[in-house]
Amino acid sequence: MKKIICVLLSVLLAALCVSPAFAAEAEETFGAYDHVFIIGVDGAGRFFKDADTPNFDRIFENGAVDYTARAETVTVSAQNWGSILTGVSYMRHKLTNDITGEKERASDTEFPTIFTYVRQAFPDAELASIVNWGNISSGIIENDINVTKLYPGDDEAVTNATCDYFNAGNAPALFFLQFDSVDHVGHGDGSKAESFFKQIETVDGYIGRIYDTLEANGLMENGLFIVVADHGHTIAGGHGGLTMRETNVTLAVAGKTVKAGGKMDLDTRNRDVAAIALYALGIERPEHMSARLPANLFKDVIGELRPVKNELLDNLVSKLAWLITLCTALF
Ligand SMILES: [Zn+2]
Repeated sequence: MKKIICVLLSVLLAALCVSPAFAAEAEETFGAYDHVFIIGVDGAGRFFKDADTPNFDRIFENGAVDYTARAETVTVSAQNWGSILTGVSYMRHKLTNDITGEKERASDTEFPTIFTYVRQAFPDAELASIVNWGNISSGIIENDINVTKLYPGDDEAVTNATCDYFNAGNAPALFFLQFDSVDHVGHGDGSKAESFFKQIETVDGYIGRIYDTLEANGLMENGLFIVVADHGHTIAGGHGGLTMRETNVTLAVAGKTVKAGGKMDLDTRNRDVAAIALYALGIERPEHMSARLPANLFKDVIGELRPVKNELLDNLVSKLAWLITLCTALF
C-alpha cells in the first residue's frame, strides 16, 4: 500500500512540474522565433537615450535596452557593421569602408555573416537586407546565398521600400536594415547639435512605421526586433576614436522571451547581435565567434562569459581601449 501511495505522489509531483503554467513561464528562447529583424541606425551611438523617441519607447517598453553597449575599438562603420553581422572582431573580419566599397563578398570567406549560417540552416527561407549605405549590401552580406537586397536611396526611401516589402507578404527569417541619415547629420553638426537629435527623432518615426507594418502583417508574434547602432559621434562631429560618445552604442531588443526592463551586462557589445539572432532562430553558433548572449536579455538565459580564447588580441586591445575611454571621460 505504501508503495502505491509513493508512486501516486511521484506521478502527481511530475504532473505538477510539467503543468502548462510552469511550461509557459519557462519558454525557451532557443529557436522560439521565426523572424529576426535587425534595424541598424548608423552613427546614432547611445543618443536614443537623449532624444524624444516615442516609437522606440513604446516598442521597447517590455524589452531590454542598453545605451552603453560597446562598439568595435575602431569606431568606423564597416568595422562595426562587419562585426555586428559576423560576430567576430574587426581584427578578424578585416572589413573596412574602402574594402567593402571595392570588393563583393561571397560565403566561402573565413568569417561569414549570420546570413550565411541562416541560409545553411534554412535553405528555402526568405532573407533580406534593405540599406541606405550600399557597402553593406555588396561588401559585407554575401552575394551567393540568395539574399533579397534592396538599395532604394535615402532613409525615407528605405522605410517605404521596407513597408512595401512586408506588405507584399514577405516573411524573412533574417532581415537587416540600415539607416544612414543620423550619421550624415552627425558628421556635419556633431552629437550635441539640435539637428542631430531631430534626425534621431525622424528615424524614430521610420522605426515606428516599420514596426507597425510588421505587427499588421502578424510578423511580430514570433519575431525578434533589434535596434542597434554601429558607433556614435564626437561633439564636433566624426568618429573613429575612443571617446564614450563614439564607443557607447544603443542595443535594444524586443520579443516574446525578452526580459522586460532587462539591463544587459557591462560586457555587452554590438557584435553580440550575431549571437542573439542565431540563438533566437535556433541555430548553433559557430565555434569561432566571440559574440555571446548578454545577461538579463532573455528570460530563460542567464548569460554567458565572452569566449575570450577565441579572440585574445581583441580582448586585450578592447580592455586597453576601455581604459583610454574612461580617461577621455575624466579629462
Ligand atoms: Zn557608421
